[in-house]
Amino acid sequence: MARTTPRRWKRTFPRKSKPRKKALLRPRKERPVVTRSQCDGAGSLLDSLPSEVLELVLDKLSVLEISVFSMVSKDTTRYVMDYISSLSWKKKKIFGSILLSSCVGERATVKQYRDLGLLFKRCTLLLPTRERLKFIFTKFSKIPCFMMNQCLAEDCGGFAVYGVFLQTLIAGWDEMECYRVFSFLCELTNLPKRIQAVITGKPGVRRYEEMQVRLFCRQVVLDPWPNHHESQFWLTLLLKPWPMVSQAHLLFILYGPLLHEGKLGWLNVVETGLPYNALWDLARAILLIVGKVDVIEANHSMLTILEELIVIPHPWHAENVARLMVLCGSKFCFSAIASKAINGRLPEVSRLIVYIILVCEKDGFHMSWAVKLVEHVCTLFSAGPEKYRFIQQLEYMFSEVVREILEFSTAGNHIEDRETFQNLDILLSSSANFHTRFLHMLLK
Ligand SMILES: [Zn+2]
Repeated sequence: MARTTPRRWKRTFPRKSKPRKKALLRPRKERPVVTRSQCDGAGSLLDSLPSEVLELVLDKLSVLEISVFSMVSKDTTRYVMDYISSLSWKKKKIFGSILLSSCVGERATVKQYRDLGLLFKRCTLLLPTRERLKFIFTKFSKIPCFMMNQCLAEDCGGFAVYGVFLQTLIAGWDEMECYRVFSFLCELTNLPKRIQAVITGKPGVRRYEEMQVRLFCRQVVLDPWPNHHESQFWLTLLLKPWPMVSQAHLLFILYGPLLHEGKLGWLNVVETGLPYNALWDLARAILLIVGKVDVIEANHSMLTILEELIVIPHPWHAENVARLMVLCGSKFCFSAIASKAINGRLPEVSRLIVYIILVCEKDGFHMSWAVKLVEHVCTLFSAGPEKYRFIQQLEYMFSEVVREILEFSTAGNHIEDRETFQNLDILLSSSANFHTRFLHMLLK
């Protein structure tokens, strides 16, 4: 190989280079060059085809292939836009796939809607944003599975695939354009009015409408985004127009615990301690909001929203408040408790800490986390007597909560049980007294 290659070079290279020099001196015959922007050739070629033939060709292409074809020239863009505007294509490619979504073909349906997102993104590239949105949403707006309060199928996957489509369509668009998309979507779906109807009403009265708002907002607008920043952007857009009380109400509708029957657990948060997975979505939403750039402002408004949230529809079971705090992590939990402590709400702070300790024990979180929290709160008080009062309050609250639980379980029992209870009561008080002095000595 090493010997043959130079020999071939010697033989061919000089022979080919000489006539080439001469050829450069001779005037060359011009060959027409067709650029993408001119593309008269492509246009005339397509124009010469009967529309039925072109349609037959497009019928053979996949959605993704049509999307690539649409970017060849202005003419192909126009052809594709006309082609996908036909009712038969819409029925086949947009509506036909939703019916599959709750069946085995779910993964295929998601891919189909991702491809549709790309197709609409690519074939409307040259249009101004508003025109673009108008063209796209008119194709999707009349389909019942993509509209609130229209599809009655229980397991309809319409919103979920609509979300996939929308996310693919607007991925990479700047905030201003996304804001336009949001306004357009609100206009089209009447979303603000629908939200207003559920957040101004009594919780749980409009159950169906509440669930429709939840499913639409979560599956179309909020959940398809894999990125924290984007989800935060959309959640802020949804919450911002409303006063704090309504934001808390909307937050519950969007992320509150769900019952097995697919209803919101409005009363469950009040009546009983819920498992952590029932409150996890709410904690995630709170963390999304406080994760904003302007942390102090976000934290402040979130604390106000939280104060409202934990009394909707009535004051929550203390264990649920504590569990939500624990799930929100030490940073947010500490700021929430610190703001209460600074405002002199010590009984409330103590009760919350007692339940946080209970949640740590129940859910398997490390107890040192709760110890650190108490230590942090102690640092808020500079004077010794204030620190003492806080520890005393906390220790007595422990006894108080135990008493409450015991009283609840011994209600209606015999007189002998009441005597035992009195003894236990004294023991609890002495324990609180002893631990107060002990802890105060250590934390001085
Ligand atoms: Zn449906």
